[in-house]
Order: sequence, then C-alpha cells, then structure tokens
Amino acid sequence: MQLVNDKPTVLLVDDEKANLKILSDLLRDDANILLAKSGQQAIAKATEMMPDIILLDVIMPDMDGFEVIRHLKNQDTTHAIPVIFITGLADANFEEKGLELGACDYIQKPFHSAIVKARVKLHLQLLKQRQMLERLALIDPLTSIANRRKYEEVYDAEWRQCMRQGTTLSLAIIDVDYFKQYNDNFGHAFGDRALESVATALSHQLRRPKDFVARLGGEEFIILLPETDSVAAELILNNCRQAVESLQISHPRSKNNGVLTISAGGVTSKPKAQEGKDEVLKFADNMLYDAKNNGRNMVLWKELSN
Ligand SMILES: [Mg+2]
Repeated sequence: MQLVNDKPTVLLVDDEKANLKILSDLLRDDANILLAKSGQQAIAKATEMMPDIILLDVIMPDMDGFEVIRHLKNQDTTHAIPVIFITGLADANFEEKGLELGACDYIQKPFHSAIVKARVKLHLQLLKQRQMLERLALIDPLTSIANRRKYEEVYDAEWRQCMRQGTTLSLAIIDVDYFKQYNDNFGHAFGDRALESVATALSHQLRRPKDFVARLGGEEFIILLPETDSVAAELILNNCRQAVESLQISHPRSKNNGVLTISAGGVTSKPKAQEGKDEVLKFADNMLYDAKNNGRNMVLWKELSN
C-alpha cells in the first residue's frame, strides 16, 4: 500500500508495547507505521491495509508468529507480502522453521537499530525490483502495451466478471493489412515502427478504464470491451480502423489507397460458461477472416445470441 507521501508501509507486530514503541521510533522517518498487538490483529490489519512489509514477533499469546505467517501465506491477497521475523528465540531450529514458512529474514532480539533499518530497507528494495520485473513480464517490449500473457489474465478475469454479473463482453481481433508486404518492402525496422504507431493509435481510442488492448504477437492485436454492447463496440473498432488509416503510413504495396490499414473481427456475447471463452475467439477469428476476404480495412461484427 502506497500512501500519498510515497513512503512504504510497515506493519509491526509484537505483543509487548515497549517493543512496538522502539521499532516504530526507529522506522518512523522512512515508513508509514501500522501496529498490531496480537496475531489476530496482525492478520486483520495485513488483509485490510496491504502493508509493503511485516515485522513479526514469534512469541505471542493465543496465536504465535508462525501461525500468523502460515495464515498470511495461504491468503491470495497477503501471500506476497515479505515477512521478517523479529524475536528473542535464539535457537537455529526456530530460525529454520521461520524461513521454511516463507519469512524472508530473521532478526534476533536484542536487535541493533542500524541492522533492523538496513534489513527493512534491503527487503523493500527487493520488493520494488520484483514488482518491476512482474510488470515488465506483462508488457510487450516493442509496443509498450500489454502482451499476450497479460491479455490472457485480463480476458479470464473479465469473462468471469461478466458471467457473475450477467453483463455483455465485446472483443475484437485486429490484424494489420498486407503487413508481410510492408516488411518485405521497407524492412523489419520500419515494420516494428509501424506496429508501434498502430498500438498507440489503438490505445488512444480506448477511453474507459476497463477497455483493454494487447499485442498478441506478430501484427495481431486484441481489444477487450467489457460491458459494451455490439453497437458501441463496433463504433469503437471503426474509430480504431479510421485512426490507423489517418496515420497515413505509406504502404505502396497495399491495395487500400497505398496506406497502412487494419482489419478487425469482433464478437459481442453474454458469457455464460467458462467453455465459451475459446468459442468466442473462434468467431472473432472467422469475422476477421471474412474482413480480409472482403477487401480489408474493414470491421466485421457478430452478435452471439444466447
Ligand atoms: Mg512476544
């Protein structure tokens, strides 16, 4: 959780008030501090506030630190939060157990202030790096829009959401027309630049937070439009088509007025069962195929009645 002041949030868990005081005095300048005096409180605060890191005491009445970490690691929302055990237990077996349960570090009491500070800082840095790598893994490096992996996540989530709410989902598969000829004519470096421009043009047509575009690979893109009926969706895709045409990217070997264009096949459906997901894509592919065979630079749409 990042608050407005941009400091990381640290949850301190200890059954002894004095320890909480020492730790919060120590970290206050560099972090937003949350406090919990018991295992139950720790789980509740972690779940609600999503801290960036947790410093967790081991020995506590009712629920000890080991039980708390087990609980956190089993919960989707909290399993990735780094946990540092901070405890008076000097036994190596305890340390091993803590690390086995998923703690990222182990600090023994009585602790040295500088060491606590340095370890917290280190783990926050590691967390930042991991989050950056996770983000990068979902971005298409060429166009900087979402990649296929991200699209699969989003499509699955949106499909489920529409199933639950009984709402409409529209999607379109998009393909750049005569792209092979474009590459053959100008070379791959120009081809890459054209794909970047197309990706930007498509993104600019999507205005609502849930509208989504990804590059599937090659010259193929996909757009997801949750809670959008076929009329609105087809309009958005036609705006996309027009936006790409308006880029006026010269393509002497295109039969569409010598400029680079796209074709799209779209489907609007009301997701009912998980299995329908692939079927909808097949229909979109068929529509795209028809658009290609009917002259390209064209959007064709299908409404699935169910
Ligand atoms: Mg204790």
